[in-house]
Amino acid sequence: MVYGLGIESSCDETSIAIVRDGKELIALKVYSQIDTHSPYRGVVPEIASRAHLEKINSLLSVCMAEAQISFSSIQYIAVTGYPGLVGSLMIGAQLARCISLVHSIPIVLVNHLEAHLAVIGLERELPAFPWLGVLLSGGNSSIYIYKGFGDMELLADTRDDSLGEAFDKVSAILDLPYPGGPSIEKKALSYERPKGEKSPFPKLLKEDGPDLIRFSYSGLKTAVLYYLKSLQGNPPIEKISYYFQKTAFELVVRNIGKAIETTKIGTVVAAGGVLANETLRSLLLTESQTRPFQLYFPQKKIYCTDNGAMVACLGYHLWKEKKIVGLDFKVSPKRNFEQIL
Ligand code: AMP
Ligand code: MG
Repeated sequence: MVYGLGIESSCDETSIAIVRDGKELIALKVYSQIDTHSPYRGVVPEIASRAHLEKINSLLSVCMAEAQISFSSIQYIAVTGYPGLVGSLMIGAQLARCISLVHSIPIVLVNHLEAHLAVIGLERELPAFPWLGVLLSGGNSSIYIYKGFGDMELLADTRDDSLGEAFDKVSAILDLPYPGGPSIEKKALSYERPKGEKSPFPKLLKEDGPDLIRFSYSGLKTAVLYYLKSLQGNPPIEKISYYFQKTAFELVVRNIGKAIETTKIGTVVAAGGVLANETLRSLLLTESQTRPFQLYFPQKKIYCTDNGAMVACLGYHLWKEKKIVGLDFKVSPKRNFEQIL
């Protein structure tokens, strides 16, 4: 049996996990900084790194105690190395270096985006590669061709805002609490659409042909703003939230369809913070029943959010492939960072 330690500190969640054989969660601790950043309606990098530093050691102790494990039983340390806020990544990296130095445990450096996809391995047998990896989070709206561990090719990206960012910005326009995803979702779910009612927002990127696969959400954000300005009296927040989601998710579904057509890859793995959204989850499930593709996304919502379990899970496969780094490894904000081993 192989026990691995996962360390995640790339953005606003500090997290430590212990995973067995890359597929069984033994313990997971996540500390979310949402309350700390919410007065600013976004993640403040300097505050984020300080908060990681304050929490990470105690999370490690609690996680190890819960797993009833000592460092002598840990075979690898997996740490998020990129992409992320550099000051925050360095906190996790430094913890990994300390443990490695004291206990002689090898380190594997993990791509945060890849870990979001690989986490499904904690819930089921991993499907055979290649996959279409659909990442919808605070920093990404992208589709990757995921060919094998450590091998991802960008197929589609956003021209401007990511989907999570659009949720966060539109929630600010609507004066809903931060983060925007859960609060917009709640409002949208309470809307009962009258039969035949038309959306106040235009279809996104409707001119794009079948070969052009891309995301863009800043226009939708502007459309929400102008719609709101055009109204008198109390704005219909539930209706706006409903049509915002409908318009935003239609582009996701359309792009997945195009990606399948273009690549002929029939395995779709969707992940990232926005996958916590129930409407999106059921939309994708319905789509997978009408089109010939296998759909996977994390069943547990804690695996949609940033977490150390996904890092330990992917780390296991990289460790098996001997992708070990020295103590002088680098971290990076870049998603296509190439670590020189
Ligand atoms: P991540 O970047 O993966 O940490 O995810 C954070 C992003 O996911 C933020 O932009 C949130 O607004 C978004 N998010 C979280 N929960 C939901 C939800 N239920 N619906 C839509 N977006 C969400
Ligand atoms: Mg986060």
